[in-house]
Amino acid sequence: MPYETEFFTTVFFLFGAILGSFANVVICRLPQRESVAFPASHCRHCKTPIKWYHNIPIFGWVILRGKCAACGKKFSVRYAIVELVMGLLFAFAYVRTGMDITLAERLIFIFCVVTASVIDLDHMILPDKFTLSGILIGLAGALVNPERGFWDALLGVLVGGGILWLVAYLYWVFREKEGMGGGDIKLLAWIGAVLGLGSIPVVILLSSVVGAVVGLLISLRTKDGLRAAIPFGPYLSGAALAYMLLDGPSWTRWYLALHGLE
Ligand SMILES: [Zn+2]
Repeated sequence: MPYETEFFTTVFFLFGAILGSFANVVICRLPQRESVAFPASHCRHCKTPIKWYHNIPIFGWVILRGKCAACGKKFSVRYAIVELVMGLLFAFAYVRTGMDITLAERLIFIFCVVTASVIDLDHMILPDKFTLSGILIGLAGALVNPERGFWDALLGVLVGGGILWLVAYLYWVFREKEGMGGGDIKLLAWIGAVLGLGSIPVVILLSSVVGAVVGLLISLRTKDGLRAAIPFGPYLSGAALAYMLLDGPSWTRWYLALHGLE
């Protein structure tokens, strides 16, 4: 790697880890309708403010060995994981994309989609604040970014949202219960807005396969079996991130060729 690339990879990792730290605040507070700006970070158990050097992404958690310095209450290792994952995704996005407007779009997408997915894991909701603004920001990005086409993004929204809406509708008609949440419908529309129409079949296929395998593994280990409710959002998000950062368009070409469509 050239020296300059190495330098900026480190910078984007740190930038991502810091935003990961902010994501943790949003994940904790947004579903409770608390302000994400005030008060400053504090232990949720004893309310003691966290010292700045204990609040450094990843390292703060390691220095404290996962416990509040004041009351000893355990901090979940997930805080450090979110920071690490965000840092790695930001650094990897830079390496794969280079420094241009596409990178800016990708970083926004990574931050929002990771944050929304962890909220989905915790509460089984994908807040409209993320999904609906994500669709608008994605469409606006398609207008501004010369590497993307607006119609491709708009079709991505309509087809992505439309397919899952249809699945949810049919499920409701035949099984008379909700199988697919409204949040998932909006999430796939958002993914379509950012990654375009071509991403939709690949993201659906990838997330369904991974979701089925993980669901099966979990059902083998718990008594709830397949009835255990697992949100689908994180699978859609993971598939979208893989598509975006690992040459997804070549997967779409492969998928189309498989069906004799190219
Ligand atoms: Zn405490």
